[in-house]
Amino acid sequence: MEALWSAALPLLRQQVGERNFSAWIEPIRCVSGNGEVCLEVPSRFFQEWITRHFLSAIREALTQLGGEPCAVRAVVAAGDDPQARSVPSTPAAAANGEPVRRPRAPKIGHLVPHYTFETFVVGAANEVAFQAAQAVSAHPGRRFNPVFLHGGVGLGKTHLINALAHELLRRRARMRIVCLAAESFMNVLITSLRQDQMNAFRDRFRQVDALILDDVQFLAGKERTQEEFFHTFNALYGAEKQIVLTSDKPPAAINGLEQRLRSRFEGGLIADIHPPTREMRLAILHAKAGSHGVTLVPEMAELLVQYGGPSVRELEGALNRVMATAAVRGAPISAELIEAALRPFRRARPVVSVEAIQEVVSVRFGVSVGDLVSHCRVRQLALPRQIAMYLSRTVAEVPFLTIGEKFGGRDHSTIMYAVRTVETKRVADRDLDQIIAGIECQLRELPV
Ligand code: ADP
Ligand code: MG
Repeated sequence: MEALWSAALPLLRQQVGERNFSAWIEPIRCVSGNGEVCLEVPSRFFQEWITRHFLSAIREALTQLGGEPCAVRAVVAAGDDPQARSVPSTPAAAANGEPVRRPRAPKIGHLVPHYTFETFVVGAANEVAFQAAQAVSAHPGRRFNPVFLHGGVGLGKTHLINALAHELLRRRARMRIVCLAAESFMNVLITSLRQDQMNAFRDRFRQVDALILDDVQFLAGKERTQEEFFHTFNALYGAEKQIVLTSDKPPAAINGLEQRLRSRFEGGLIADIHPPTREMRLAILHAKAGSHGVTLVPEMAELLVQYGGPSVRELEGALNRVMATAAVRGAPISAELIEAALRPFRRARPVVSVEAIQEVVSVRFGVSVGDLVSHCRVRQLALPRQIAMYLSRTVAEVPFLTIGEKFGGRDHSTIMYAVRTVETKRVADRDLDQIIAGIECQLRELPV
């Protein structure tokens, strides 16, 4: 059931859109019920909302993936008290104008439960951000303030701030933490302005021990929200309360952000998250598969890494689809299964064809296309052939199996080996790198 739910997530994300997804679908915990699927949700309000708006989409996705009709029900997680929320973690909850003051710490249910430090894979790409988040969770308000984490979409910013909040609450259960999207902050502000409740608004945000605001690039051009946030920021900063911000770009690159806010954002620790390297992608894949009780053989992990897009989110999505396909078919994860599972999600038409690549490479290296695709083992042919295979994967984004077919019926592992070899050689050999870069430019300019 867990595998099925994980597999349904990317589908649902596509269907309901990014915002609805993170507000309403992500916080759901899927548990198996008696012949039906139970979706555990944090509150009664949440239950009503998703039952009305998303239940049929969820049912369809699960039915489609599981191959048989399935009954779905939303239930409020035991021990969760709907009155206990003062912290809006979703746009709709925020706009709903819920009770403002509350003496107790916010419910953890509003953080994504499995976004913890333990489930976060650390590597060179995210080490600084990870260390910063850990340091803050150990000494909030003191060492680094504010902390500004930035990096591309799907690289783990939201995961890290959730982990940070979990850890803060683990250490000090009564800590008052507000962790929400910048967009939600704006929605609460609008509601408060409309209802003439700005005092309550200020109390709510200025009396917390930690304010964690996700995706502050959203504030660009929102002058009124920036103004209010500026005052919130100053009040908290002055009181040595921790502030953590995330964005998809560094403060200086957010157009439409007031200078005074920018300089405040730049006044603390700025840490960026880069796309993960191949090794780290492999580590993430093994960790994620392992958490579902699935062991990935190295070759299949490698194949998935080559398929996955630039972000961890895409990599994870690909893995989930593959695991669900394997579970539904009751078959082990093989190269064919990976292709079958991921084919529907690939772009409809490759930008460049393998044939075009073979043509260009053969001209560049003065060999014939026939030689390139042949099994002739003459030494001068090896490198051009590998480069053509490499470009078929990286530029044309054709699956390994297909590339193998177009190169005289070779095995997918031969193609994978070629891709890796060329990657390594490019790093070591500047001249070769230049030649390949030249071919890449030429290919990208070809008419489609
Ligand atoms: P962002 O907020 O930067 O767009 P998210 O935090 O939503 O990205 O991450 C997207 C997905 O990738 C999440 O499911 C998250 O758990 C996963 N993820 C990202 N980075 C890592 C990592 N280093 N280790 C484990 N999972 C990760
Ligand atoms: Mg995010």
